[in-house]
Amino acid sequence: MASFPLLFDLGSAKPTTRDIARTVKEGGAAALTDAECRADHARYQEVTCRSALNPVKGMPFDWTLNPYRGCTHGCHYCYARRYHVQFELNADDEFASVILVKKNLVEVLTRELARPSWTGEYVAVGTATDCYQPIEGHYKLTRRSIEALLRARNPIGIVTKGPMVVRDRDLLVEMSHITTCTVYMSVPTVDEDAWSRLEPGTAPPLQRLRAVRELVDAGVNAGVLMNPIVPGFSSSRDKLERTIKAIADHGARFCGCNVMFLEDGTRTHFMKWLEREFPAFVPRYEKLYRKKYAPDEYRKQVKGMIRVLQERHGVKGRESDHDQPIAPRPEPEQVGFAW
Ligand code: SF4
Repeated sequence: MASFPLLFDLGSAKPTTRDIARTVKEGGAAALTDAECRADHARYQEVTCRSALNPVKGMPFDWTLNPYRGCTHGCHYCYARRYHVQFELNADDEFASVILVKKNLVEVLTRELARPSWTGEYVAVGTATDCYQPIEGHYKLTRRSIEALLRARNPIGIVTKGPMVVRDRDLLVEMSHITTCTVYMSVPTVDEDAWSRLEPGTAPPLQRLRAVRELVDAGVNAGVLMNPIVPGFSSSRDKLERTIKAIADHGARFCGCNVMFLEDGTRTHFMKWLEREFPAFVPRYEKLYRKKYAPDEYRKQVKGMIRVLQERHGVKGRESDHDQPIAPRPEPEQVGFAW
């Protein structure tokens, strides 16, 4: 049987992310002469990472793992856009078109998991970049990371918009038998118009929901995050109800939600995009997003509406979403938020 050739090998000495930042600072993204341009028009730059598991603060988990940086899915609201600025790359086009590939990730991860100081804490996979990038089909960094975590019997949660997660069902089922293993499929809306405008590079929402169905049927704890709800695009009662009904119809074990927040590079990118594509929305957004978060009252209304719809369609909320006190439960028809 013919073996699948290595599509590109940039040699053994890969630059670190710091090297990349220095190179881009001096010559822009064009200075990444080793980066390969693929059929999807993204450029892939292999890098060497010094650590695989990243400690984080202020999140519901303490450790993250991200095999790639930058995301070809290119969602306009993506909070991770601002992280690309750390590499001197911009949060606009370069976030979706220059992808850093941590070529040695699995070897580093394996070493870290074997350290006596590692206590087997929960690891959140794919928090800063979707770990099922199209290029994952070639590198298999996410799959091989899950294999390493499985060998270590280490609890994990995976967040993704990629139906490719179904490829790794065998590992996830095995993992589910021995420790915590949760897949959070991100499906902010099933509305085709909102989806195609907000998430130009992602798989169709129903395809993602079918992936949830396959994982649940196989015995994996898989649910949906309606993150983020984007005011004016996916926040109407009708769109929320259609989305929650579709989530229920696909057997999701839970459904969480959050209203979009905007900060730093993400805010700049989103507002530029809005000015270009939906100028009439700009004044309203300027009012709604004076700060990082939309006003409490607005978020409470949206979450209250979602809770009612979840109950109506028999979808369990995610516990952390219901920890926060939210608005009294109105009938959906009575909620009056303008967007
Ligand atoms: S799929 Fe996730 S990481 Fe990728 S652009 Fe969209 S929100 Fe960001």
